[in-house]
Amino acid sequence: MIRTADVVIIGGGISGCAIAYNLCKKGVKRVAVIEKGYISSGATGRCGAGIRQQWGTEMNCKISKLSCEFFESAQEELQYEGDIEFKQGGYLIVSSTMKEHEQFKKNVELQNRLGIQSKLLNLEEAKEIVPYLNTDGLISAAFHQKDGHLNPFHATQAFANAAKRLGAEIYTFTEVTGILVENGKIKGVQTSKGDISTNIVVNAAGGYSQLIGNMVGLDLPVYSERHQILVTEPVEPMLDPMVMSFSLNLYCQQVPHGSIIMGRGDEGEPRDLRITSGWHFLEEMAKTITKLLPPLENVRLLRQWAGLYNMSPDRQPIYGSVDEVEGFYLAIGYSGHGFMFGPATGLLMAETILGEETTLPIDMLHINRFKKGELIFEPSVV
Ligand code: FAD
Repeated sequence: MIRTADVVIIGGGISGCAIAYNLCKKGVKRVAVIEKGYISSGATGRCGAGIRQQWGTEMNCKISKLSCEFFESAQEELQYEGDIEFKQGGYLIVSSTMKEHEQFKKNVELQNRLGIQSKLLNLEEAKEIVPYLNTDGLISAAFHQKDGHLNPFHATQAFANAAKRLGAEIYTFTEVTGILVENGKIKGVQTSKGDISTNIVVNAAGGYSQLIGNMVGLDLPVYSERHQILVTEPVEPMLDPMVMSFSLNLYCQQVPHGSIIMGRGDEGEPRDLRITSGWHFLEEMAKTITKLLPPLENVRLLRQWAGLYNMSPDRQPIYGSVDEVEGFYLAIGYSGHGFMFGPATGLLMAETILGEETTLPIDMLHINRFKKGELIFEPSVV
């Protein structure tokens, strides 16, 4: 293991690997990623891996558009030998209340202004895209063809491999056990395989980011919440886009090899880093999804699992430095949409760390927004 690094990144998920790639691409020589499990063993490898540009705030639209455009050329840009399996089958987001319908109108207007070609559909049009959709109780739908899904393991490995080719060191099955701070400045990290001196540490530890914060004496304003998901046996193509409902709190999508992946948010999920999956989720998921897409009643379940959403007070990421510890950076708090933000996270964090002007303005995502009471309201989240 190296003993000195310019930047140490804690976490080998999509965020950590994308940040490493961008730092190396910008010429930083000694970048180390420390991952306590394998690459993508955190939320990244457990997620629904949905990619959408249909958001209700300008900032989220811009971050996801930047990321989505990157994913379109990621295979070449990252020179990945596998297939990242980016499928742009669209996202069909259904509304079931007038409030939601009115919000969709505003969202589509905003998205179109920002160059995202989403549209508002009536139920007949929605059924043309998803013939199996049960429209009882629905009002309308929003659709954007360029949204979709990609393989989270391949996408993250692609960033990791590209970073390694550019000189990054990636240590898997290596745990960061402490962070050395002297006079308010980062001096190094302690790991299960030895210490590394560095002046810059990036906390990209997903659901464990609050524990990393504790290592430098900070009580970060995030918590982790379990979210569950399941996958069915592969079946004939029956569902092209991701189907999503904010009021039913669910999403469902068929992946290229035929399996259908679906998940939902549940009230009262534990916040104690537990990632076991239970019966309640299975029952509620089955009940709600078969109402929306009745043919799924006949599809057999393969397995279910859970992962952690790292939640921030306004359910938006926290990017950037902290006032209390010089050299300590945060890329945390994605609250359920950090996979699709991965490419933007990588670029924007690398620019921030190097003191460059950021491609998109991200000051409003700094941790100080909570002290100032400047929270961001994003209406369109599961
Ligand atoms: P992670 O992938 O969690 O990576 C953090 C890594 O840090 C982990 O691998 C962990 O092992 C490592 N680590 C932690 N502590 C230490 C330590 N002390 N030492 C060394 N390593 C450490 N997002 C979307 O965009 N679209 C979706 O459809 C979507 N669906 C989701 C569905 C579910 C069920 C879940 C749980 C999440 C979903 N998300 C989705 C959210 C998304 O998965 C996360 O926001 C994103 O993967 C965060 O990536 P990350 O790299 O920041 O964190």
